[in-house]
Parts: sequence; C-alpha cells; structure tokens
Amino acid sequence: MSKPQQGHRARKRFGQNFLHDPQVIQNIIQSIAPEKDQLIAEIGPGLGALTEGLANSGCQLKLIELDRDLVSKLELHYTHTDNVDIHPGDALKFDFGSLSSAPHSLRLVGNLPYNISTPLIFHLINYVNIIQDMHFMLQKEVVQRLAAEPGNKNYGRLSVMVQYYCDVDYLFTVGPGAFNPAPKVDSAIVHLRPRKTISLIANDTEKLEKLIKQAFAQRRKTLRNNLKTLLSSEQIESLEIDPGARPETLSVNQYVALANLLSEN
Ligand code: SAM
Repeated sequence: MSKPQQGHRARKRFGQNFLHDPQVIQNIIQSIAPEKDQLIAEIGPGLGALTEGLANSGCQLKLIELDRDLVSKLELHYTHTDNVDIHPGDALKFDFGSLSSAPHSLRLVGNLPYNISTPLIFHLINYVNIIQDMHFMLQKEVVQRLAAEPGNKNYGRLSVMVQYYCDVDYLFTVGPGAFNPAPKVDSAIVHLRPRKTISLIANDTEKLEKLIKQAFAQRRKTLRNNLKTLLSSEQIESLEIDPGARPETLSVNQYVALANLLSEN
C-alpha cells in the first residue's frame, strides 16, 4: 500500500482522513515503539499509513477496519504476512476480550475516526484490565479534555471518567496538512495507560458515571445545585467538600468519594 490515496475515495461517514506526512507517521510510530511479539490492535488501519511501521516491528498485529473496500485492500496486501490478522467490523462492537485475557497484555493504537472517538473510549474502558496502553490520534479538543486537570476549563465528565481508569499524557499536536483530505481542526496524539492500582476505588462504577454526568450537567452551577437530586449539602460537606464549589474544581478522588457515598445510600 505504498501509494495510500490510490484508488480509494475517502468516505466522510467513516471519518476517513488518511495520514500522508512521513515525518508525522514516523513520530507516531516512535511514540508507540512497537516491539516484536507484542500484541497490538490497530483500530481503523485505513490505507495502512501506520500499519506498515507496526507490522515491520514483528509485533502480533490485529487490524480492525469497518470499510469493506479497505478490508479488501488490506487483505490483498497482508495475505502473506504471518504476524498480521484482519478483523473486518465495527470497533465499537468489537470484543477486545477475544484477543487476550492476560492482564495488561494488549496495546491499542489508531488514528481514530473523530465521529466515534468518545463512544469508542467508553467501550474500551470495559477492557482496561487487559490493556497495557493506548496511543490514539483524536481531535485536539478531545485530547485536551482527556488530559485536563481540575481547575482547567477543559476538565469535565470525560476527564474524570477516563482519569479514574488511566494515566493520560498529551503527546503532540498534528496540523490538518498531515492528512488527506485535510480535516478542519487540529488533531493530537494521546497516550492512555490503564492504572495498575487505583488510589480510591469506586464501589459502583455505574454510580460514579451517573454522579459525574449529573455534577457536570450545568458547569456554571454549584455542586449543591447539580447534585441536589442525588446528595444533600450535608452529605457533600461530610466529605469536606464545599457544596458551593464548581464541578470543575474537584479531583477524581473527590468524585469517587461522592459516588461511594451515593452507593451507600
Ligand atoms: N489509520 C489510517 C491513517 O492513519 O491514515 C486511517 C485513519 S481514518 C481517520 C479512520 C479509519 O477508521 C478509516 O479507515 C475508517 O474506515 C475506519 N473506521 C471508521 N469507523 C470505524 C469503526 N467503527 N470501526 C473500525 N474502523 C472504523
């Protein structure tokens, strides 16, 4: 697949923006640093911009691609490559547990279609126990939200949920010119590493999700206001959290403590 754009018209509905800048591709592969025999799944390999560098490392590479035309091209190209398997289908429905059951054994990578990036991250959270790490290209704003710390304007529901499970690093920004067709927005590479130990464990992660959603329902309002159907001011104060605080000022552990209080009720 040496000439990526040849014979394929990019499909908007599949979020197809193909990487073509060799320097950017090299920087991404260097950040991933794939190694022989590692189990790596690439989501949305497309025309193979990242796939080649990954496959050449000798890793055990699993490709998950939705577009059937691209699957045919990938099959043609990789039929004789022992370390590459192709899984046609939707990454949002893919059972990543079918690739491995060993703890922290699976590496995930992908220049993700932007329209599915947030639901996909929530789907992947179900598999954090088997995941070693994830390198994804996403819309820059989404990476900013993933990596934001308390007090930052980008800190919100996505930051708290993902940081509960993972350490998050914003690696670098990629401009629109690196893609064909060029997207309208900047992109960035994020590195997510599922935590091997979680400092404060949520007793019920569904409650945590519910509480966070409610807490950030109206960012300009106070916790007391946003959480009034779930917890009283006295209950919030019992954890030494100010009910008059804005939702973006609380740490992940403070949200876990609130969710644990909710699950005790
Ligand atoms: N990795 C290639 C690159 O960097 O040039 C392509 C990236 S393009 C932004 C996103 C890729 O994800 C496309 O190949 C698209 O067909 C594929 N895709 C879109 N939705 C998908 C889904 N739900 N599951 C798996 N792949 C999907």
